[in-house]
Amino acid sequence: MTPVKILAPGLYIVATPIGNLGDLTMRGRDILATADAIACEDTRVTGKLLSAFGLKRPLIAYNDHNADKLRPKLMEMIAGGQVVALVSDAGTPLISDPGYKLVRDCVAAGLTVTTAPGASAVLAALVLAGLPTDRFLFAGFLPPKSAARRVALGELTAVPASLVFYESGPRLAASLADMADMLGDREAAVARELTKLFEEVRRGTLDSLAAHYGEAGGPKGEIVVVIGPPLARETAAADLDAALRRALSGNSTRDAAALVAGETGLPRKQVYARALALAQEIKTGDASD
Ligand code: SAM
Repeated sequence: MTPVKILAPGLYIVATPIGNLGDLTMRGRDILATADAIACEDTRVTGKLLSAFGLKRPLIAYNDHNADKLRPKLMEMIAGGQVVALVSDAGTPLISDPGYKLVRDCVAAGLTVTTAPGASAVLAALVLAGLPTDRFLFAGFLPPKSAARRVALGELTAVPASLVFYESGPRLAASLADMADMLGDREAAVARELTKLFEEVRRGTLDSLAAHYGEAGGPKGEIVVVIGPPLARETAAADLDAALRRALSGNSTRDAAALVAGETGLPRKQVYARALALAQEIKTGDASD
C-alpha cells in the first residue's frame, strides 16, 4: 500500500475534471483525500466528485456570495496548521472561477500556497483548435449584451495572439457574429463538451461559424471559442496607419507619405492615398474636439 503523505499546512489549489473523471490527477486525489477541509463552489457538485472516488471530507462552500466573509476563516484554519484544498465545480480554480483573492491574501499573509494542476477548458480547447499556440490571450466570458461585447472585442483587435473565450450555447451565434465584425473574418474553432462523450470541435472562419450556429441554433453544453491571431493584412494595415500617424505629426501629407513609403517599401501611391485619408480623419477629429 502507498503510504499516505503528510501534507504541510497550506492552501492547495486542486484542479478537477472538466467532464471526464479520469482527468483528476493522482496528486489531486491524494490532496482531496487528506485535506482537513475542502473549500468548493457548490458542496453538492464537489460531494458527488468525492463520492465517485470513494472520499469523504468536510466541505465548505466558498463562492461569490460568501467569499469575503469566509476568506479570513479559511486563512485562520491554515495559520492554525490545517490543510485546506480549494476546488471549483470543474477545471482549474481561479480561471473564471473563485479563488484569486484567497490566493492573494494567503500569499500576503505568508501562508503556503501550492497547486495540483490539471484540467482546464482553456488549454484543452487551445490544443485542439489547430490555431497558433505560441502566444494566446485568455479573455474569459465576454459581456452578454452585444454593445458591451463589441467594446470588449474592440480592445482585443490588435493583440498579436490567438484569443480564447468561454461562451454559452444560447449566446454563441450572436457572439460569433460580433467577433467577425470586430476582429475580421479570422480562422476560429468552437470547442464543445471537451473530454465528454459528445466532444466536438468545429473549425472555420468566424463568418462561416456565425452563419452555421445562426442557422443551427445554440448548441447544448459547455463551449470555448478560440480565434486565430490578426490576419497579416490587418496587421500590415494597422502598422501602416501607426507609421503614417507618427509621420503626419510634423510633416506635410506628401512628405509623410514619402517617408513611410521609404521605410516600409510599400508603393508610394498606396501610402499617399492612405496618408490623405488619415490626414482628413485627423483634421475632422481636431475640428470636432
Ligand atoms: N475553471 C474552469 C476551467 O478551468 O476550465 C472554467 C470555469 S467557467 C465558470 C465554465 C466555462 O468553462 C463554461 O461555461 C465553458 O465555457 C468552459 N468549459 C468548462 N468545461 C468545459 C468543457 N468540458 N468543454 C468546453 N468548455 C468547457
